[in-house]
Amino acid sequence: RVVVVGSINMDLVTETDQFPRLGETLFGKRFAQYPGGKGANQAVAAARLGAEVTMIGCVGADAFGQQMKAILAREGVDTRWVSTGREATGIAAITLSAGDNAIVVVPGANHELSAADIDRAEQAFRDADVVLAQLEIPFATVCHAARVARAHGKPFFLNPAPAVALPDELLDLTTLITPNEHELATALQTPGVDWRAILQRMPGRIAMTLGKEGAYYATPDGQLVHQPGFAVNAVDTTGAGDTFNGALASFWHLGMAEAIRRANAAGALSVTRPGAQGGMPTLAELERFKSN
Ligand code: ADP
Repeated sequence: RVVVVGSINMDLVTETDQFPRLGETLFGKRFAQYPGGKGANQAVAAARLGAEVTMIGCVGADAFGQQMKAILAREGVDTRWVSTGREATGIAAITLSAGDNAIVVVPGANHELSAADIDRAEQAFRDADVVLAQLEIPFATVCHAARVARAHGKPFFLNPAPAVALPDELLDLTTLITPNEHELATALQTPGVDWRAILQRMPGRIAMTLGKEGAYYATPDGQLVHQPGFAVNAVDTTGAGDTFNGALASFWHLGMAEAIRRANAAGALSVTRPGAQGGMPTLAELERFKSN
C-alpha cells in the first residue's frame, strides 16, 4: 500500500506557430488537457504497477477537480482523502511552439492542503507500507506528513521537486530522497560538490536519477551502486521522474536494488510514449519489457 501526499493539477496545453507578444491575440493550432501534478502522476504510476494507492491532496470545487478525482478513481486510486478547497484546482497553462515551451503554474487548491488534512487521513498512514511526497504542496504539510509517517513507523519517501533546500528536521524524518542531479544539490545545499560524495555520505538514504543513465545510490557500507537505465527510443520524457518514483514506492518491498531496477524499467517505458500519465506502464507491460 502506497500513500501519496501531493499535488493534483490539470495541465492545459496550447500549441501555436509562435508565442503571442504582449497584448497580442492570435489563433492557436491545438488545445488539449492532461491530468497532472507530481502527486497525482506518482499515484497513477504506482497504481498502474499494481500497488494499492491512496491519494491525499486538495482540489477546487470545480470541473477540473471533479475530472481529476474521476481520473484517479478510474486508475484505482483511493480518493477518499482528496479534499475540496476554496481555491480553484491547480493548473499548468502550457504553451508549446516550435520545440519551446512557456509555462504558468497556478497551485490553487494544492496550497490549501494542510496538516489537518493529514491528520484526518491517519487511517491511511496506519495502513501504508510507504508514504511518498513531493514539494508542490505547502512545505509545512510535507513536514507534518513526514512526522505522521514516522509516528506510525512507516517509510517516508521524498521526491524533492521542485527543488528547495531541505531543513535537517525533514531530512531526519525522510527514509529515502529521490532527486535528480540538480535537485540533489539544491535539496542538500551542496552546489559544486560531487554527487557521488553526497550519496556516500548518506548511504541508503538517496536514490538519484540521471535520465537515460538510470539511477545511483550508496549501500550502507558506502559503496556507490549504479543501476543502469534501459535503452529505449525516447519520444517524450515528461513524467519519467514521476513514473520512477511511483514505481520505486510500489516495489520497495523487493529491496533497494530490485526496486530501482524496476523503477528504471518503468521510467524507460514511460518515455517511449507521449504524455506524463499517458506513458506510464502497467505491471503487465513492465513484465513483458523486462523479459525482452
Ligand atoms: P526527472 O525527469 O525528474 O529529471 P530523470 O530524467 O532522471 O528524472 O528520469 C527519471 C528516470 O526515468 C531515470 O532514472 C530513468 O530510469 C528513466 N529515464 C528518463 N529518461 C530516460 C531515457 N531517455 N531512457 C531511458 N530511461 C529514462
